[in-house]
Amino acid sequence: MRNSECGIGKLPDAEFEAQNLIMNEMQQEFLDIVTQVRNHLEYQKALGVSVMETVAAKVVSPSAIAVPPAVKPTAPKVQKQTEPQKPAAFIAGGLPAVREELGDCTRCKLCKGRKTIVFGEGDPNAVLVFVGEGPGQEEDQQGRPFVGAAGQLLTDIIVKGMKLNREDVYICNIVKCRPPDNRNPEPDEIEACEPFLIKQLQAIRPKMIVALGNVAVKTLLKTKEGITKLRGTWKTYQGIPLMPTFHPAYLLRNPSDKKLVWEDVKKVLAEMEKLRKV
Ligand code: URA
Repeated sequence: MRNSECGIGKLPDAEFEAQNLIMNEMQQEFLDIVTQVRNHLEYQKALGVSVMETVAAKVVSPSAIAVPPAVKPTAPKVQKQTEPQKPAAFIAGGLPAVREELGDCTRCKLCKGRKTIVFGEGDPNAVLVFVGEGPGQEEDQQGRPFVGAAGQLLTDIIVKGMKLNREDVYICNIVKCRPPDNRNPEPDEIEACEPFLIKQLQAIRPKMIVALGNVAVKTLLKTKEGITKLRGTWKTYQGIPLMPTFHPAYLLRNPSDKKLVWEDVKKVLAEMEKLRKV
């Protein structure tokens, strides 16, 4: 739009363009803040937090709405809950409802480079869920988790090692879209995607989770501790026993550590056996 068309007839073109640029940047920053707050609220909601302390809304003029706030809003305070968080007993509509809510997601920047959303696959009532990091190239192409080289190794662990069918477990990832150049997912991407993983787990209500690699373990357990330290010992995620172990992609580079994963997997099998008996 030119100056004369928008009623700012007196501004020279260059100044007008500069003002336009600044306004666009401010609007973009404002939209980014709105997205971050929305993602944070979705994350809290998925965790089961339903009560927030609110700040009384001020009446603002319409012109004030167009201007981004000068300071970034701090995240709303979450009211302390006395009960520990447990997975909701039931997600209305189950996994299909979670998939529908996810939609053609554009909640984070990974949407720009993806071909397909990799939601997850397997038994919606699985006793055991594997959580990886994020789709790679092959997964992005096929829209299925763990179908590349690392996926083949995970399938071998499940089928040849654990003597289970791949279809009888559930397999998903921390993020559902492929990070460019197979880099690790970034914190804002994880925060945008995590509510859907939480809801998937609430819908499936597995008896056990295997967290594959650093990204899965650190995200689910909210820890900075690394996988080398954590692997092989039972942890708990939202009341569900969780076994951290190495990611299959790491095993492709460090095959001598397969025996450690086998130790971890045996612990999972032993628990599954106990469940079968009760
Ligand atoms: N690595 C992952 O973490 N997930 C996949 O789906 C594939 C490779």
